[in-house]
Amino acid sequence: MRLLIYSKALYSTWIYYNPDRLLFDAGEGASSILGNKAFAIRRIFLSHGHADHIGGLIGLVNIRNNAMGDKEKELSIYYPEGNYFVSEMMNFIARTNRRLSYSLEWIPVKPGDRIELLGGQMPRYVEAFPTVHVHNEVSLGYNVVEVRHRLKAELAGASQEEIVARAKADGREAVTEYYHQKLFSYGGDSVGLKPAYVADTEILCHDTTFLDEEDRKEYKHATLAEAIQVARAARVKHELLCIHISSRYKSKIREIKAASGVYEGLSFKVTFVPPGRIFTAE
Ligand SMILES: [Zn+2]
Ligand SMILES: [Zn+2]
Repeated sequence: MRLLIYSKALYSTWIYYNPDRLLFDAGEGASSILGNKAFAIRRIFLSHGHADHIGGLIGLVNIRNNAMGDKEKELSIYYPEGNYFVSEMMNFIARTNRRLSYSLEWIPVKPGDRIELLGGQMPRYVEAFPTVHVHNEVSLGYNVVEVRHRLKAELAGASQEEIVARAKADGREAVTEYYHQKLFSYGGDSVGLKPAYVADTEILCHDTTFLDEEDRKEYKHATLAEAIQVARAARVKHELLCIHISSRYKSKIREIKAASGVYEGLSFKVTFVPPGRIFTAE
């Protein structure tokens, strides 16, 4: 299991990213549904401070203090610097949890900030990028990025012997180059993301509150058409995960799925996370 998602517009959104034990947003129900996995979470990344994205924090912080399980594990909560609602939540949790058995850290984040997850041969980090949701609140999206190396493009036509000889003579750096591969991108409640921020990502998790263009009354959140447009422009490699879908579309999702061939010609899969249901990927 790579992802465990619950997302229903206005009610609650949270995404558990299993490989690095990250939680993106923490809407209501996160701790009760995650159960034991709530103890596994190492870092929480908040996109913004709306209740449907932070309402589950109280339960999460509390359960790790009280229930059976590893109480020593530290927890870091990253949030958009200057976000008023998150600051209020932070104060509330601090005042009502004076004796936590584990270390809880709140870390303000700005666009471009990197949070290291893993060192070693293939380091991994989370990078924040700016998003647009409501005009009076700062919001962020996040990429999980892995640093990999590959053969230099100029050596694509070279023979194995040539490459080996070159590496022997000038070192490994002469034949390989590093590149940063986005594994997972999450844009919170943003309107259509700027494709450059999520370029070449493997999995894009994009707001799709409105499946029908005409249902969106103000420029807030995104539509399915916009999410697909962003994913296409960003050259998403594997999958567009449509989240934050309004529950009014429950039957519409079935219709879209039934209409085969609607998304022909896309180089990635389009998956709808059904509102109000637990969704697992891989
Ligand atoms: Zn929301
Ligand atoms: Zn919101």
